[in-house]
Amino acid sequence: MQAVAEPASAPSPELREELARASRSLEQSSPQDIIAWAAERFGSRLTMATAFGPEGCLIIHWLATVAPRTHVFNLETGYQFRETLELRDRIAKRYGIEVALETPETTVAEYEAMHGGPIYRTAPDQCCGDRKIAVIRRVLVNFDAWMSGIRRDQSTDRAASPIVGWDHKFGVVKISPLANWTKAKVWDAIVRENVPYNPLHDRGYVSIGCAPCTRAITADEDERAGRWSGTAKTECGLHARG
Ligand code: SF4
Repeated sequence: MQAVAEPASAPSPELREELARASRSLEQSSPQDIIAWAAERFGSRLTMATAFGPEGCLIIHWLATVAPRTHVFNLETGYQFRETLELRDRIAKRYGIEVALETPETTVAEYEAMHGGPIYRTAPDQCCGDRKIAVIRRVLVNFDAWMSGIRRDQSTDRAASPIVGWDHKFGVVKISPLANWTKAKVWDAIVRENVPYNPLHDRGYVSIGCAPCTRAITADEDERAGRWSGTAKTECGLHARG
């Protein structure tokens, strides 16, 4: 495996203070204003990660008018749903934004041959580590800041997410323009602004990741209950508190 650069350990005190100040002042701002701030502050050193969930699609929708040249990428593990990859093409057609597919060093066939079969059931943390975390580390060394669509009300892991903060895990600034939005507010905007979304959402899939680790849920289940269902795992590690 190719060596992955280690992230910087900590921000300077000046940067830490700037981020805290920005986060406080942006707390009541619209996501469009937060995106505009991020694009102006970090320019071509800003990137955005998306798994093509509704929040990511909405941010791309706004990026198309606010900062359309922003780099956007998807972690293409090789295990994503066909519908997810087709959504990438629909977004490219609608907005002219080509989301870069960032892949691991091995194909699924090579990876499974190395391990004697898939390991997403037996060792999902290793699988996410190899096919997501190592890849995002490789991408983020080329940027100073990344943006994601996480919301505080999605899980306890995400409840304390600031609008702007230092991502200790990856050694870059992290911006979450939808941190204080709700699922209902996101879907209202998707419908109102006719934003493309994954058709699996209409079939009971609420939070969508890799196909083998995602199932549809019932109305009374938590929105992330369909991810790594039946295991204690709740996050792939991208948004873990570091
Ligand atoms: Fe592997 Fe599942 Fe993680 Fe995808 S979500 S990288 S298939 S363990």
